[in-house]
Amino acid sequence: MKYNFGIDIDGVLTDEGPDHNSIWQQKMNEFFDREITLKEYTYDLRKAFALSDQELNEFIQENIEEIYSSVKAVEKARKILKELYDQGHRLILITARSEEHRPITENWLQENNIPYHELHHEDQKAPLAVEKNISLFIDDKKENAVEIAARNIPVILVSKYHNHDFDGNDQITKVKDWDEIKTNIELFFSKNTHSSKLS
Ligand SMILES: [Mg+2]
Repeated sequence: MKYNFGIDIDGVLTDEGPDHNSIWQQKMNEFFDREITLKEYTYDLRKAFALSDQELNEFIQENIEEIYSSVKAVEKARKILKELYDQGHRLILITARSEEHRPITENWLQENNIPYHELHHEDQKAPLAVEKNISLFIDDKKENAVEIAARNIPVILVSKYHNHDFDGNDQITKVKDWDEIKTNIELFFSKNTHSSKLS
């Protein structure tokens, strides 16, 4: 049985560094004249780093391409995706990054040897996950996880400071790293093989 995997990029394939010294925070400290620290555990960068709308816009404008091209990849992710790819599963990357950053994203994926079949730039991930017949989704944003799980698609949610207040549920399994992602993918395979044998 071959499956379609839906996979987020930022925070899942990228290694942004420790919560209190992430690549975002480092670049913000280079960019602004005051010390920037992580103030609030939220996905919203304005609130997380106590920036004004204008400050965040200026920061993104000046730094986003540098961040997208220089952020490290999670080494284990590449290895595990390669195994899935070689087993014949379909790897569908779905990122909320703007379409204008597609070339930089494709370059980064290539430079980091991350295998995939499709790359989609889409903010509304749940409808696309349904359209693409995704069997299992991996993301780090809890709002995405909840919306995708509501379409009856199981989700592996990578633990991050911004999802600390959510422990997961029947459909959403929270994990801390790619070792745990691998364990949960194997569990998913065994459950689905088992149920198809019964039917
Ligand atoms: Mg993400």
